[in-house]
Amino acid sequence: MKIGLFFGSFNPVHTGHLIIAETALDEAGLDRVWFMVSPQNPFKEKKTLLPEYDRLKMVEMAIGDNNRLLASNIEFGLPKPSYTVDTLAHLYDKYRSYSFSLIMGEDNLLHLHKWKNYEAILENYALYVYPRKGEIVESSLKNHRNVHYFEAPLLDISATYLRARIQAHKSVRYMTPDPVVKYIEDGRLFLS
Ligand code: ATP
Repeated sequence: MKIGLFFGSFNPVHTGHLIIAETALDEAGLDRVWFMVSPQNPFKEKKTLLPEYDRLKMVEMAIGDNNRLLASNIEFGLPKPSYTVDTLAHLYDKYRSYSFSLIMGEDNLLHLHKWKNYEAILENYALYVYPRKGEIVESSLKNHRNVHYFEAPLLDISATYLRARIQAHKSVRYMTPDPVVKYIEDGRLFLS
């Protein structure tokens, strides 16, 4: 089973994330994409970051009955802060028969050299990279044997943009699936 890991805080998940995950399945030849919801860092007070439970719940709702996508809370139980290289080692131990790869925007590839043990990640895992709008700097890792680019339609939205709209009492309908919109409205999330 080939699993693509898509890491993020998903605060909240939005249609841009879903399009990337669904496109990556075909373009990267994956069987599943796992949304790796980042845990709350107990040492970091971030007012706008919703509890991990709410963010996971919204990813589950966004995925709905798409059985090629999965919301993962694996990092919630790992030491914090969670480093990708440690999460990958944990997954390797736990799911010996699966092959894991990473899905990331080109912007992330540009900063990869700052990640803990990034050389080990690059050597051992395929990285499926999609272009981000406005990215003019080319990554020096572009031609690495484990870096594979794929085309994906990009939506010019971010979780920050959704949060700003919610705070301004504007609609986020269609920017994230209806059940997520309802969950946010019912819980009055992101308002304070
Ligand atoms: P924030 O605005 O809070 O920083 P975000 O929308 O960028 O959040 P993350 O949870 O950080 O969301 O997203 C996980 C991954 O998805 C990141 O690697 C991010 O670059 C990427 N991503 C976010 N928005 C889009 C988008 N519209 N299209 C493609 N990729 C996106």
